[in-house]
Amino acid sequence: MRDILHCDLNNFYASCECLANPELKGKAVAVGGSVEDRHGVIVASNYKAKSFGIKCGVTVYQALKLCPDVVICTPNFKLYNEMSQKVRKIYADYTDQVEVFSIDECWLDVTHSKMFGSPIEIANKIRERVKAEIGLTISVGVSFNKTFAKIGSDLKKPDATTEITVDNYKDIVWRLPVNDMFGVGRQTKLKLFKLGVNTIGDLAKFSKEVLIKQFGKVGEMLYNNSNGLDEEPVAYLDDSQQPKSVGNSTTFYKDLTKRKDIELGFTVIAESVVSRMIKHDLKCAKTLSIVVKDTQLNVYQKQCQLNPPCRDTNIYTQTAIKLFYDNFKYLTGVRLLGITVGDWCDELSQVSMFDSAKPKKCMDSVVVKIRDKFGIGAIKKGNTLLDNKIAQTFVNEHLDKND
Ligand SMILES: [Mg+2]
Repeated sequence: MRDILHCDLNNFYASCECLANPELKGKAVAVGGSVEDRHGVIVASNYKAKSFGIKCGVTVYQALKLCPDVVICTPNFKLYNEMSQKVRKIYADYTDQVEVFSIDECWLDVTHSKMFGSPIEIANKIRERVKAEIGLTISVGVSFNKTFAKIGSDLKKPDATTEITVDNYKDIVWRLPVNDMFGVGRQTKLKLFKLGVNTIGDLAKFSKEVLIKQFGKVGEMLYNNSNGLDEEPVAYLDDSQQPKSVGNSTTFYKDLTKRKDIELGFTVIAESVVSRMIKHDLKCAKTLSIVVKDTQLNVYQKQCQLNPPCRDTNIYTQTAIKLFYDNFKYLTGVRLLGITVGDWCDELSQVSMFDSAKPKKCMDSVVVKIRDKFGIGAIKKGNTLLDNKIAQTFVNEHLDKND
């Protein structure tokens, strides 16, 4: 039996802003697009702002209507990234198995950390230290697998520890709506509702065979996870293993409706994906997929083969744009775009007659080197000047990714 913690920083972006700007104390604070971009969306808010209904996804315009006094901060990802690093340093004092899930969430495997106390004691110690040393609060879920630990950290907020054990998981977890479980997105939720599966308990008691028939591998995973059979290990902090895929996605400061904005969005994401590949020393990818979230928060995915396999910003960008317009040109507005590449190979398996991939592969490496030396703004693609804020998203996202 393993002991796993899931640590989730509360209202992370908004908490960082309040910490960095003491004059915000006691005020309703939200982080999002600037006031001039009235269509910009809120990406985080503190409890006071939440009490007015200002939550993630609300537009700046609506937020100001709900609470005219709300202070809206422009995202400062450099700050969030620094804070996140500091918190992870505390986590690393208790185990070397710290898996980063996002800028504000990590799993910790403390099975072999008994010298620091029981899992609950460790969770409470970490919680106290993050509060005392950094000034942020976390919610911690303690359980015997990653799925239940993550559910646990959602149950009591802020600054709380929740334990889910083999004895109590049926009482605590099974009554929750099925989409509270990691891996159940909007589409899956709707399909499960049609099968009469509303709670995690319904899922756990449902026929495994039917789930596999309906959802394939994912169906088996859903069945196992709801029954406490999630065996997915927590990765090591310095996991030098080659990642299976590399992907970045970004929620933009405004909904993208124009083709030029969507093209620019994919350009900046493709750049960030390639620079991460270079850092991991990954040569070529054989597949590319895109993820798209529309303004109604529906999520779509499409995948294709890269032929020939490559590591090239321009080819990734063009492939993503083509995939998008072949499949989603009917979408009225786009909130998030992402690109993921994978299925690695070392060299171009086939050199095409118009082999443009090779020189550009060198160019991407040079760009990464220049940025490492002179900063990320030292060299930019021409079209990123079209909308500096979309391009800025890249800079942020890029610094976020912790590899
Ligand atoms: Mg959080």
